Amino acid sequence: MINIKRDIIRILFCWILFVLLSLFSSEIHALNNTPASKIMLRADKCKELLLRSKKKRRYRHYWNRCISRYLLIRRYFPKSPEAPWALYKAARLQERLYRYSGLKKDLQKAIELYEGLVKAYPSHRLSDDALFNIGKIYYRRYRDIPKAYLYFSKISKRYPKGDMAPRARSMIRKLSPFIKKVRAEKARKIPPKRRVIFRDIRHWSTANYTRVVIDLSGSTYYEAHTLPEDPKRGLPKRVYVDIKGARLLKRFKGSIPIKGALLKRARVGQFTKDTVRVVLDINSIERYQVFHLNDPFRIVVDVQGRGVVRKEIKGKKLTLAQQLGLSVKKIVLDPGHGGRDPGCYINRYIKEKDITLRIAKILKRYLEERLNCKVLLTREDDRYLSLEQRTAFANMNKADLFISIHVNSYKKDRRVHGIETYFLNITTDERAMMVAARENAASEKNLSDLQKILNDMLLNTKINESSRLAREVQYHMIHALKGRYGWIRSLGVKQAPFYVLIGAQMPAILLEVGFITNPKEREYLQDDDYIALLSKGIVSGVDSYIRSIVFGG
Ligand SMILES: [Zn+2]
Repeated sequence: MINIKRDIIRILFCWILFVLLSLFSSEIHALNNTPASKIMLRADKCKELLLRSKKKRRYRHYWNRCISRYLLIRRYFPKSPEAPWALYKAARLQERLYRYSGLKKDLQKAIELYEGLVKAYPSHRLSDDALFNIGKIYYRRYRDIPKAYLYFSKISKRYPKGDMAPRARSMIRKLSPFIKKVRAEKARKIPPKRRVIFRDIRHWSTANYTRVVIDLSGSTYYEAHTLPEDPKRGLPKRVYVDIKGARLLKRFKGSIPIKGALLKRARVGQFTKDTVRVVLDINSIERYQVFHLNDPFRIVVDVQGRGVVRKEIKGKKLTLAQQLGLSVKKIVLDPGHGGRDPGCYINRYIKEKDITLRIAKILKRYLEERLNCKVLLTREDDRYLSLEQRTAFANMNKADLFISIHVNSYKKDRRVHGIETYFLNITTDERAMMVAARENAASEKNLSDLQKILNDMLLNTKINESSRLAREVQYHMIHALKGRYGWIRSLGVKQAPFYVLIGAQMPAILLEVGFITNPKEREYLQDDDYIALLSKGIVSGVDSYIRSIVFGG
């Protein structure tokens, strides 16, 4: 009896072992057999043979062959676990090729590949390695210390707990003295005659948001920093901006006290002979960003205060979406231009500013009726508002969505017509750049400067949500109009650096609802039936976007 029992146990044990082993081996089997992993193996082999052979290393096409094998994975299996590794290995190889070729274009290519990795897989553990390698390239190969410093800082900002953070911080410490010197030299280079004049300071502030705009007479160099809280002197944490090569006029001497809810006080003073310092005393800083806009030159400081705890509405049970703050309760519509800024126009009677206001008013009614949400307009009548003021309005009102409405223009060819929707991003599209330059009332040259600083700023904006909102609205506008106005045309969803969208803390889009220069479209844009249908389309787009966030569709 005992023997039989023992045998059964033994058989059972063997069987379990067998099942476990076969499970395990099939796991390994599956891992090695995905198409991506197969290509990876081949690419690794290619690299190994290349690096081992002295002869092969001398020919560019051998390098390119291995690199392109890695890139196949990124291209065809971007979601596979191998993809980020493949990009990283391709970049490493490209960087190594430089040692043989000595060509700067190889370094540039390597940087692009590393950048691609960071952009596509920002949370992958190789991303900080990629940033570090870029920093190293700028430091060692280009001797471009400010650039290198920028990349090392990115690591300590974005991946403070990553494995590269300590090395990045030690590089930052090493480069800091140089950076200070470079900055000091830059500031010194501005001759006193060319010093810009501090014109004015404007601000919008609520309990947990403030936007301060510093107006200057021309472009100049500036730096923003924070000062820690100073309990001894009773000072809160402060943000200050040093404007180099600038001077204060007599009437501003001393300080300008301004007050807001989050912003306790702002002080302006001539800090040194050619530096004007603006200090913002702020109640509680969560994060802040500083950027400039051109034509005229102005520095914008956006400060986000510590979040206010969401209060539960008494006696009402909130749905999960509401608890997560996913529902859309408030929409800000921004009728483009107004007052002394007519936007594009045909004659005294047909101006963009009037068309956009009319559309916004009709759209507001439809949105409120169908989506049961609150809709605010940045302007209700014909008045001038600066672009930064419009975004500030949406932020201050804690809007869930921001929609700016505009009319397109193309004088070179009056046949051009169509509807397009934009969200904020850098662009390489010439047409999109032209539209942004016109709407920003800025030159295209100044816009390309802006693109460089935009990269970092975009970290805190809702690009994905905005592009989704743009897609939904664009699709539904066209869908709604196509039935009765078969002639209308979709120019698609595009991206460009629009000032009015910068700093918006909610998904934000800009509509170009048609061309004022096209006679037929111009007629449509002044027809209430057409506008009603267009508005219904926008409402459907917003509705469909809301459903997609609430139901995760
Ligand atoms: Zn416009």
